[in-house]
Amino acid sequence: MFNKATELLNLCKEQNKKISEIVMEKEMKHSKISYEELIDKMNDILNTMVSSANSALDKEVISVSKISGGNAKKMETYKNKGNTISGNLINSAMARALSTSEVNAAMGRIVAAPTAGASGILPSALLTTRERFNLSNEDMIHGLFTAAGIGEIIAKNATISGAEGGCQAECGAASAMAAAAIVELVGGSVETSLHAASFAIINILGLVCDPIAGLVEFPCALRNASGVANALISADLAMAGIESMIPFDEVVEAMYKVGKAMPESLRETALGGVAATPTGEEFKKKNL
Ligand code: SF4
Repeated sequence: MFNKATELLNLCKEQNKKISEIVMEKEMKHSKISYEELIDKMNDILNTMVSSANSALDKEVISVSKISGGNAKKMETYKNKGNTISGNLINSAMARALSTSEVNAAMGRIVAAPTAGASGILPSALLTTRERFNLSNEDMIHGLFTAAGIGEIIAKNATISGAEGGCQAECGAASAMAAAAIVELVGGSVETSLHAASFAIINILGLVCDPIAGLVEFPCALRNASGVANALISADLAMAGIESMIPFDEVVEAMYKVGKAMPESLRETALGGVAATPTGEEFKKKNL
């Protein structure tokens, strides 16, 4: 039905529908299931997301390596003191993104959206938007379908894998998916969703994948925290009426080319970036 954002935009325009509606119709047809079954399935996914985004806020969820754990709780405690620099909303979003990342690192249940490494961004973005605008569960489910549509375009035309395209592909895709969903949820147009998705990728174009000791923990959790902030500000940039000079399909293509141009050392091999620092190497030597 659609492979590119331009095709998705045309379908939305022709049928006067939102991204989520087009994606839901496509999914019902593809999976041969009813609207109710589709909603039920996505509701299960949403429940897992809500759980992972909240479960490390009031208790420490420590990973086997002990790199991860406790930072979501620290962030939540800091936010609750009410004296943050970037405000309640951003701090709350970062705490939730860290929570899912910590649950993932501790082998807990998360939803790979689009990957496990970047799984903290979308749940946190949706929950933060729900709180801010008092949205319903059904709204959230629609947001997930919008995000899925954007993720599908990136996966089909580029990559969502850190090993192939660097962290820009994983956390960039998650941020773009979240930014587009947020815009739709707050009443923005399809074009505005695509501008927001473009900004989210452009803002972190070139971000390398360099997990310490090859474990999806540091700097991954930090990048989920900054990734959700990126999604929120990208949505605001677009809702303010700012337009991306480069269309989304071209941004995706550019991201893919940047990923391909990255040396292997910066694509999940733990041979470059912060993984190759003396401290990163030392940790690897002691723990693996
Ligand atoms: S640094 Fe690599 S492993 Fe970690 S979240 Fe980014 S892409 Fe995934």
